[in-house]
Order: sequence, then structure tokens, then C-alpha cells
Amino acid sequence: MDFPSVCPVCAHTNRAEYTDRSVHDLTCAQCGTRYCLLIRKQKFEVLFDLGTRALMDGYAREAVASFAAALERFFEFYVRACVLERASNSAADFETATAALDGTWRHVASQSERQLGMFALAYLLREGREPEFLTPRALGTEFRNRVIHRGELTAHAEVEAYAAQIFALIDRLLTELGSGAKHAELAQEQVFARHLAALPDGVTVVFEEHPGMFRARRFGTLAPMPKPHKPGPSAAPDRLLNDARAFQQTQQQALFQRALAERGTLLRAFKGE
Ligand SMILES: [Zn+2]
Repeated sequence: MDFPSVCPVCAHTNRAEYTDRSVHDLTCAQCGTRYCLLIRKQKFEVLFDLGTRALMDGYAREAVASFAAALERFFEFYVRACVLERASNSAADFETATAALDGTWRHVASQSERQLGMFALAYLLREGREPEFLTPRALGTEFRNRVIHRGELTAHAEVEAYAAQIFALIDRLLTELGSGAKHAELAQEQVFARHLAALPDGVTVVFEEHPGMFRARRFGTLAPMPKPHKPGPSAAPDRLLNDARAFQQTQQQALFQRALAERGTLLRAFKGE
């Protein structure tokens, strides 16, 4: 996926492609200036935005893979944030901590089930409680598998519900992480610093923050959603469960729709024409 990038010298708009490490070495097509663009955005954010754009553009089926990948990368982000947060509270230095983390992650990198295990423990250690949302239902696992592995052609509304579910989960966990997320972001700055140190002279460096579905929330401009009200004592247990589920789905949809209304246009502006 590409996005517009303005040359720091002549202001010509070049098109760049998102890279895995958020580091973009570019040459202006108009004036030939070499510049390095560093985007402060996590991979899970880029993936979720890709999914949102695909959904907005009518590629519902394609969007599912991006949302699923966003959730997996978010779990990694969470693990990294927790580990580095703990390290920051000890005498360990950041370089040593990230090296140990990278080494450990290599053992689980090729299997998402192992990563899920890492995440479950990280959550338990940080929050002191069970990650009760790690059920196939809450993660939309069955839907994802039907679409991705069995090629099911799915309806737009179903994908939107899936997107809302993933959005609400990541949003909740980001809120719980709070300032803990900074530690994983610091690791990205470290990657940038290493790249900058190796750049030849005469290359202009540009830092950017791109709009995205999670950005505003993380900087606190999206108001919290109202809490669900408690159902009355007269309702039957089955009915209660169904009501709670329906309510939760409505909440998720509302949260996602609101983020989309606030930030969807910004994402659209980033669409490659
Ligand atoms: Zn230029």
C-alpha cells in the first residue's frame, strides 16, 4: 500500500510504500533530494488501517486478513510493551532488555499459538487476572478461519462486525496499557536511531505521525463509551446472556462506527489514487 509523502525540499508529492520497519528511504522524483521518512506508527495500526480502507473501498473479504493480522501484531505489541515496562522498573538497561526480548520472540515468531501463550502470560502478570477475552468467540476465530482458510465469500456487514470486535478489543487493551504502551514505542525510536546513525551525510530526515483508527484514542480525544446498564432481576439467565451479547455487539459497532466517522476521512485522504 502506498501513501503520499511531501518532499522536504521542493514540496513535490511523492508516493511511498509502507515498510515493515516504518523506515522509508526515499528520493524525490522531481528534485532528486534523498530523504529518510520515519513514521511513528505501530505495525498493528498500519494493518488495521489497511483493513479499514479495504472495507471502505468495498473489499470486505480482503479486509479480514488485515484485521486478523492487526490483532496478532497487537498481541506482540502488548507483550513487548509489558516486558519493556517491567525492565524500565528494574536496573536493566533498555538496549539489553530489547535484545533479550528480540531473542525470546524469535522462539515464538513463526507460530501464532505460541505468541498467544506469551500474550496470555503477559496479561496475567500485568493485570493480575485471566485474559477472559481469549476465547474463539471473542476473537472471531471461526469467522476468520472460514474466510481466510476456506475462502468463504462473506457479507460486508459480517466483516464490519468482525472489524468492530477487533477494534473494541484492541481499544480496551490499549486503554488498560495506558502509558505502558510508551515502552514499546520507545523501541521503535531505537530502531529509528540505529537507522539514522548509518545514514550517509546529506540525507534529510523527516518524522511523521500518520492518522489512523487508534491514534486519536491514544491521545485521548475520543470520549469513553457509556457503561452497559445492569439488566433487571426478572429476566431469565439465557435471555440475560443473549441481551449482554447483543448489547456488547452494539457497543462494539458504535465504537467502531464513531472512530470511522472521526478518522475515516483522514484515512481516505491517504488512499493511493
Ligand atoms: Zn523534491
